[in-house]
Amino acid sequence: MNLAEMTAMQLKELLAKGQTSCREIMESVLDEINRREPEVQAFISIRDREELLAEAEAVDQRRQKGEAVGVLAGLPVAIKDNICTKGIPTTCASRMLANFVPPYEATIVERIRAADGIILGKTNMDEFAMGSSTENSAMKITRNPHNPEYVPGGTSGGSAAAVAANETILAIGSDTGGSIRQPAAFCGVVGMKPTYGRVSRYGLIAYGSSLDQIGTITKDVQDTALLLSVIAGHDPKDSTCINAEVPDYLQETKTTKPLRIGVPKEYFGPGLDEEVRKSVENAIELLKEDGHTLDSISLPHTEYAVPAYYIIACAEASSNLARYDGCQYGFRSPGDDNIIDMFTHTRTQGFGEEVKRRIMLGTYALSAGYYDAYYLKAARVRTLIARDFKAAFESYDLVLHPIAPTPAFKIGENIDDPLKMYLGDIYSVIANLVGIPAITVPCGWTSNHLPIGVQLAAKPLDEPTLLSAAYRLESLLHKSGLLTRP
Ligand code: GLN
Repeated sequence: MNLAEMTAMQLKELLAKGQTSCREIMESVLDEINRREPEVQAFISIRDREELLAEAEAVDQRRQKGEAVGVLAGLPVAIKDNICTKGIPTTCASRMLANFVPPYEATIVERIRAADGIILGKTNMDEFAMGSSTENSAMKITRNPHNPEYVPGGTSGGSAAAVAANETILAIGSDTGGSIRQPAAFCGVVGMKPTYGRVSRYGLIAYGSSLDQIGTITKDVQDTALLLSVIAGHDPKDSTCINAEVPDYLQETKTTKPLRIGVPKEYFGPGLDEEVRKSVENAIELLKEDGHTLDSISLPHTEYAVPAYYIIACAEASSNLARYDGCQYGFRSPGDDNIIDMFTHTRTQGFGEEVKRRIMLGTYALSAGYYDAYYLKAARVRTLIARDFKAAFESYDLVLHPIAPTPAFKIGENIDDPLKMYLGDIYSVIANLVGIPAITVPCGWTSNHLPIGVQLAAKPLDEPTLLSAAYRLESLLHKSGLLTRP
């Protein structure tokens, strides 16, 4: 079997038995990049081949000498391009940061390196993580590895496509309103947004700070547990990071117990694609047969999630993106002799259409005359949505529903209709508004061979239950044959 097609856990086993080397793994991944990348276009930058092979060999040599190596020893990890990598350009897929080379490392990158993972390169995304298809990138359009006419989802579309195309073994994304889980589902891989504060965001370029979370994109649930165990944990450099012990996620993944799972009826309303509905219902049936309790429940404020999310996310973005004014770092429009013109031209030329739309929406929602009508109201709606979940979690361990109302759509299909694009986030933004952990696993295929994903969400910090349920569901789906590509 091609090494690049294997999971991190499978490769770790081969490495431990001495049946392969980190160099061989890296070569195999680089071969896949050569083969697939001209079409898929998942990466904005890929590190130098010789440097990557030398790093892999250095890990092999340490292992040969009997030295201790980290849990990600020699495994390639792709990083979304809104996460700072020291000495490696971090562009946020924006003209504004096209030449930005961070002088420091994000905490999660430091942790991956400390675990001997090898940073492969930086993946494409929607500019400043605003979008749902990776079409808003100022750099390139990433294509769905299962069909190049379709989007990979977004905004971590590059990371999801890279994992699905075997152009990396593991990947990191960020999720403000579904940006890990929706592209993972569209590309047929596993995506997880941990609890708000579970993973340090130091070095993540901010979009909506009360919503942003870094998480994982992997080929299966065990790899998710492995990578999460490396990146989770307290960081004094991020004041929102929770100071709680990190459980042994890999161990927890394998525990099985009968679970109570709520299935919110509001997530199965009009607009839900029939093939997606059928696939998610299959997953529900498999879990029932496996002895879990699945009940229809109501989360009555669901319909207000998209408007609340877009007001809060844009308001926060308008404030976070105020720093890009041509003074401190990033792009500066040349030739102006007064500073106001310089600000205006820098921001007009440096940001793309969608980013400017969001800055204007957010500035409007925060303006003195409209603050109460928009921002304050959205913040109150957010509390109501959080209460819906609190009540549900009094009776249930988990909540299960589709991650998106449709499978991947065609490139260009939604890009001229921002409202349609925003409405596609209806099921994904809630986990961010509430701050709970959520994971998507592939649960089937459409008749035209595109993957479908299902989401499970848990109480804050209950990643152990979430991972064990996802692992169980994944194996049930495999056994049932529903994951076999038609
Ligand atoms: N689609 C959502 C948005 O455009 C989610 C983005 C994200 O999670 N970064 O805001």
